[in-house]
Order: sequence, then structure tokens, then C-alpha cells
Amino acid sequence: QAKAAGRNNVSFFDPAMQARVTARAALEADMRRALVNDEFVLHYQPLMNMDGTMAGTEALVRWQHPQRGLVSPAEFIPVAEDSNLILPLGRWVMHEACRQLAQWAGNKRTAKLAMAVNVSAQQFHRPDFVEQVLEVLTTTGARADKLRLEMTESLLLKDVDGTVEKMQRLRAAGITFALDDFGTGYSSLSYLHRLPLDQLKIDRSFIWAAVKEDSGAAIVRIIVALGRALNMSVVAEGVETLEQLNFVIAEGCQSYQGYLFSKPLPESELLALIAGL
Ligand code: C2E
Ligand code: MG
Ligand code: MG
Ligand code: MG
Repeated sequence: QAKAAGRNNVSFFDPAMQARVTARAALEADMRRALVNDEFVLHYQPLMNMDGTMAGTEALVRWQHPQRGLVSPAEFIPVAEDSNLILPLGRWVMHEACRQLAQWAGNKRTAKLAMAVNVSAQQFHRPDFVEQVLEVLTTTGARADKLRLEMTESLLLKDVDGTVEKMQRLRAAGITFALDDFGTGYSSLSYLHRLPLDQLKIDRSFIWAAVKEDSGAAIVRIIVALGRALNMSVVAEGVETLEQLNFVIAEGCQSYQGYLFSKPLPESELLALIAGL
């Protein structure tokens, strides 16, 4: 008994584990400070139509850290999601993306661009999420029909009825939805047709596998067919090579994102890129 308890508690005294807990708490505290000091920035990755025109951009958050330089969301978003920090951070991202969208609307080079914003489960499942988004649209003057929310399978699976209801209210305002990283989550096809989704984004792991293995190619083919059957447009994520692009064009994807065309860019660099198109 004592031995069992000791074994269960052993991680508590594990120095490596202790170090991780301390590091995480430090990162959390640092993020709180960074929110106050306005250290987060958005970069924008183009979403390209297959005819070479730009459909829009996806807003991707970065942390401009005074000592560490530009920190990737892969490092801090999971920590923010485990604490409550994703709520103020998510609100900031929504506001900044919509402010940018409204500003682009005033320039004929950028007026047609849509803006995709990633939404975390915690954020979406807040009771006032719909009101929050609609308020941001009002205060920034951004057009709802240019705003697309990107969500993951796990987010949508949690409370499907409540999720559908919220999506419908946002949709009534003109907002559209993308299912992000499709294929990596708990793919339950039984709920997919119930969700008012406009776009399926095929996770980059399948795009990469598609040009290497027959089975990868088959998965992409099936996802495109599924998207078509459910009236969604299909986006290929993480396109890095011409071979991958040619493949997803041949398979019928409507648009793509990836380093082949551009990585996520600060606004000034995005505008320079657009000016050169
Ligand atoms: P995501 O929404 O699936 O975004 C796509 C990620 O793939 C981005 O990473 C992008 O830089 C990367 N990517 C795009 N094309 C390529 C490519 O050709 N090759 C490779 N290797 N990577 C490519 P990033 O910016 O590091 O973001 C990682 C994830 O962090 C995002 O995945 C998203 O889940 C999350 N994230 C980023 N910004 C936000 C945000 O504002 N809110 C929330 N909730 N999550 C965010
Ligand atoms: Mg995304
Ligand atoms: Mg994705
Ligand atoms: Mg992702």
C-alpha cells in the first residue's frame, strides 16, 4: 500500500518533471506580461486559388519576445490553451485580424481578401463567444462575409448541438467556417454533415504523404470527394513542392496554402508580395 502510494507520487519528486512544471509556470507568467506589453503580432499566410489569384490570408499569431525573438505559436498556444490565457489572447487575435481586414477593405489591391482566424475550443465554447465576435466586427468595421473561423475536429465534436447552434448564429451574420487539419482528429463522419462548414483543410501530413505513398494519395482523393459531396471547398495545407501542387490540382482541391507560394508574413511583406503579383 505504502509502496503503491509512493510509486504514484514519485513523479511529484521527479526533478525533470518539476523542472517542466516550473518552466511552464514561468512561460505562463511571461505570457501574461506579454499581453499587457502588447508583444503579440499577427503574420498572414496567403491562401491561393489554383488560377494564381489570392483568395485571402490566414492570421497566425507570433510572440515578439524582447529577449527570445519571434516565438512560434506551436510553443505557446498549447500552454495558453491549458491556462485561461487563450481567452484574452484569442480576443486580441480576433480584434487585430478584424482591424486588419477592415483596413484592407479600403485598398483595391487587398479589398477582396478574406481573413481566416484560428479559434480554440475554450474560446468557442464560452457562452458569449458569438456576441464577442459580432462585437469585434462592429467595433472594427470588418465585413462578416470576409471572416472565416478555423476550427478543429475535436472542438466541433464537443457538444455538437451547442456547436451547431453557435455556428448558425455566426453564419446568419455572414461568417464562414473551415475545418482545420482535417484527418488528424477524431474523424467521425457521422457528425460532419450536421455542421455548417464551408471549407475542409487537408492536413499537411496527407499532402506530404500523397506524393510519397499510394495510400497517402488515396486519402487525399477521398477527402476531396467527401468535401465535394458535402458542398465544401477543399484546401490543401502545407504545399511545399510543385509536385505536391500539381497533385492537389489534379485531385480537385480548390485552393492551397504552403511555403511553395509563401510562408506567413508580416503585413508589410505581404503587401509587397501582393504588389509584385
Ligand atoms: P494551423 O492553423 O494548421 O496553421 C498552419 C501552420 O502550418 C502554420 O504554423 C503555418 O506556418 C504552417 N505552414 C504553412 N505552410 C507550411 C508549409 O508549407 N510547410 C510547413 N512545414 N509548415 C507550413 P504556425 O504559424 O507555427 O502555427 C501553428 C499552429 O498554431 C496553427 O496551425 C494553429 O493551430 C495554431 N495557431 C496559430 N495562431 C493561432 C491563433 O491565433 N489562435 C489559435 N487558437 N491557434 C493558433
Ligand atoms: Mg489554421
Ligand atoms: Mg491547419
Ligand atoms: Mg494546426
